[in-house]
Amino acid sequence: MNGKAMKEWIARLQPICRSITGDGVRETLRLIGEQIPLECHEVASGTPVLDWTVPPEWNIRDAYIKDASGRRVVDFARSNLHVVSYSIPVAPRWISRAELEPHLHSLPDRPDWIPYRTAYYERAWGFCLSQRQRDALTDERYEIAIDATLAPGALSYGELRIAGESEAEILISAHVCHPSLCNDNLSGIAVAVALARDRLGTRPRLSYRFLFAPGTIGAISWLARHREAMPRIEHGLTLVCLGDDHPLQYKQTFAGDAPIDRAMALVLAGEPDAHPALPFHPYGYDERQFNSPGFRLPVGSFMRGRHGEFPEYHTSADDLDFIRPECLERSALRLREVCDLLEANARLVSLAPHGEPQLGRRGLYEAIGGSSDPQSLSRALLWVLQFADGEHDLIDVAARSGIPWNTVAEAAERLEAKGLLERHGGGRRRCGS
Ligand code: ZN
Repeated sequence: MNGKAMKEWIARLQPICRSITGDGVRETLRLIGEQIPLECHEVASGTPVLDWTVPPEWNIRDAYIKDASGRRVVDFARSNLHVVSYSIPVAPRWISRAELEPHLHSLPDRPDWIPYRTAYYERAWGFCLSQRQRDALTDERYEIAIDATLAPGALSYGELRIAGESEAEILISAHVCHPSLCNDNLSGIAVAVALARDRLGTRPRLSYRFLFAPGTIGAISWLARHREAMPRIEHGLTLVCLGDDHPLQYKQTFAGDAPIDRAMALVLAGEPDAHPALPFHPYGYDERQFNSPGFRLPVGSFMRGRHGEFPEYHTSADDLDFIRPECLERSALRLREVCDLLEANARLVSLAPHGEPQLGRRGLYEAIGGSSDPQSLSRALLWVLQFADGEHDLIDVAARSGIPWNTVAEAAERLEAKGLLERHGGGRRRCGS
């Protein structure tokens, strides 16, 4: 999937009215399922999940504010952002402008944009509209209606597991609960799908688990129901705003020095304008559920624009024009590089650790002579040997030496072939293990 194809696919997903439950999520999972074989799960309303309970299912068909002449001045059919997500049903009725006013949400500083608002766990209703629309509400009375249902149903999420040579897994998670917003939500889904399509039909070294779940309650439901999977998850990422033209950036895991943190640092060091890594903080997306003390899954977050910090965030301006094919494509490329690196990473154990082994006797200088970049490979051999104490991994060598990853990996292969080195999967041992 190149950037253009990703954006075209996002255009199909954009009109769907997603929320944390409901048919919009199901339709989204169905469209993801056209691209990759997705296993869909439903968790009934009322099910206890960790400290939470799956809420009633929300579905909406129509909503409006009509003026005295019967004209729809705010119309759900024109934008699904016009209704506060999880609004309780409102039967058609006339109300005064003063009574309507507290139920309206607009952005005075951005008079043409519609804000995105939710009320998942309150029994509330509301309309979101542009400031211009709001200023034009000069009638004394309006007819309003929200044709929605909040009823026992289910929460939906989808999963794809791709088995690799190792049981150890990379978790790739994207939230699927935002309505017609493109960067916050759909870009992450598209980049995840692109990676899944790339890995499907191959036998990767590590296994992959792709999770498409509504934010917070979806991740919590998944954590509650898949505890058996937890010990196998060695690396993870939430994919969030990845289609805008802000530089790529990475938010670290709670530990801050997991292999995913170090792999990301190495890959983003090759991005001319990447931001320095953001230390973990307990807000943002579902990385905060995965990293919680009871799970401590090493899950970082990969993004461009940072949530809440770009003006278009959670507004109608986060639309198709806001995301760019080349940005989506570069995000997907860098993600693939990070996963390649995690798959190739290994903890290094020298079989001749006392002093420097005699490389010439083993023909390693001849091997170096055949390389297109002998200097770099010869140095890489020494770096790898120096790090091969059973505590360090290939990512450490590449990060400390500044030698390109492929050269470091080749050096390790050659040393192994000569019986000087063992490579152990999974990279550097985690603290305490
Ligand atoms: Zn959001």
